[in-house]
Amino acid sequence: MPTPPLAGGTAGPTHLRPLLDTVLTALHDGATRRNGPLPAGGPDTVTHHTRTTTGPVLPDHGTGPHHALRTLVTALTEGAADPAHPHCAAHLHTPPLALAAAADLAASALNPSMDSWDQAPAASALEADLTRTLATEIYPHTPHPDAVITTGGTEANQLALLLARERHGPLQTICAANAHHSITRATWLLGLPRPVVIPAPRGVMDPTALHDALTTLTGPLLVTATAGTTDTGRIDPLDHIADLTTTHGADLHIDAAYGGPLLLSPTHRHLLTGLHRAHTVTLDLHKLGWQPASAGILAVPDHHHLTPLHHHAPYLNADDDTEAGLPDLLGRSLRTTRRPDALKIAVTLQALGRDGLADLIDRTLTTAHHLADLIDQHPHLQLYARPTISTVLFRPTGTDDTHVATIRRTLLDQGHAVLGRAHADGRLWLKATLLNPHTTPEDHHRLLTLVTHTATRTRTTPAPAPRPAAPPAPRTPAPHTTTEGSNPR
Ligand SMILES: *Cc1c(COP(=O)(O)O)cnc(C)c1O
Repeated sequence: MPTPPLAGGTAGPTHLRPLLDTVLTALHDGATRRNGPLPAGGPDTVTHHTRTTTGPVLPDHGTGPHHALRTLVTALTEGAADPAHPHCAAHLHTPPLALAAAADLAASALNPSMDSWDQAPAASALEADLTRTLATEIYPHTPHPDAVITTGGTEANQLALLLARERHGPLQTICAANAHHSITRATWLLGLPRPVVIPAPRGVMDPTALHDALTTLTGPLLVTATAGTTDTGRIDPLDHIADLTTTHGADLHIDAAYGGPLLLSPTHRHLLTGLHRAHTVTLDLHKLGWQPASAGILAVPDHHHLTPLHHHAPYLNADDDTEAGLPDLLGRSLRTTRRPDALKIAVTLQALGRDGLADLIDRTLTTAHHLADLIDQHPHLQLYARPTISTVLFRPTGTDDTHVATIRRTLLDQGHAVLGRAHADGRLWLKATLLNPHTTPEDHHRLLTLVTHTATRTRTTPAPAPRPAAPPAPRTPAPHTTTEGSNPR
């Protein structure tokens, strides 16, 4: 076999073009074969089908680029949970914009690594502009805001807690019951005390409970609030929380992984009032920013706040290189080799502009309100609450939690819909996290019909009353009777 060609250089595009043609055909064919938001049959069927169609991962003799691309990309597409399908709405799993995916191809072909200037001369300049621009959106009132690019909200939250620990030593974190699980994990990773968890009635942090915690606890404190919770998409009262942390001298981190991009919508940015008062802000653009994973941000109001991340490795940022003017990039992440995620983000911001981004955000929030309206008007469905961002919780009326979970799994098994699950007010709900701006009212109608039909078909009939003709044997409860709230967490 000839030596495989490379993606870069002047010859790279010539070699890529026919390969891309094969990839695009495979993406199309795989999606056609799936014909729904995810493959039918559940894990065993999909695993078996994927294994048999893809063949050995490492054969003795290679099958060649076109065959391998066609085989594996078709199989992966056929077996995908495709967020571009309007009935794929379980998670903050975004349908990437075509233009962002195209930009990501260029990032892969060029492969700049963001840990030193000599691997990423222009990419590091673009990343610096992009991070400054995004940080300025969050912190418009400080002269030198800055941000680092992360693999997502999890890494951004870890960095936020790390920076707080570097400011104060092993401080106590306070979060509400609605906080993302990565906050607790970050305290574990960083050797910090477990967070003090305060109540979040109706899905938002209770400021009275926060006041009590800030009054009772001693030593340095970090409050982490959430702008767009994973379960209900609610936003904590940020300004009120910032007042409390200011009064009590505590630091504030806001996890705006989901809600952060609302800043770009003049219609909805008021929901984030107070965001700029945080010491650190997490934001994900692979959620309400339509980027392929990954595209996370941690922003700070002043670039000096990132100094604790500075690190020295003579082969990447020797002092004399830095003095001679080579940008020192190693302190922009805890990672070393790092993809230029700035490229796809910058392409998206430039291609859409402020008005295009605002329109995309507003459109998406409108679809959520529309779905909520339909549920509200539906005689057999119950709406948890009006959506704050784009998360809609609902459940068929007259069901219990076990049945709600069964409906979700049945839809997954059939490949008809991907809905999430969330506990709220002591009950289990179906969760639609809407991130697809192309979703139509007809899509919503079809989704709700799927849910109500599945609910009817999977309803466990109550144990029949003993018939008069039946022998008077003592009855034990029917084994299939479901119990409200029996669902383990
Ligand atoms: C998604 C999310 C995270 C985690 O982000 P990843 O990008 O998945 O690492 C953290 N916090 C909130 C509020 C989120 O919605």
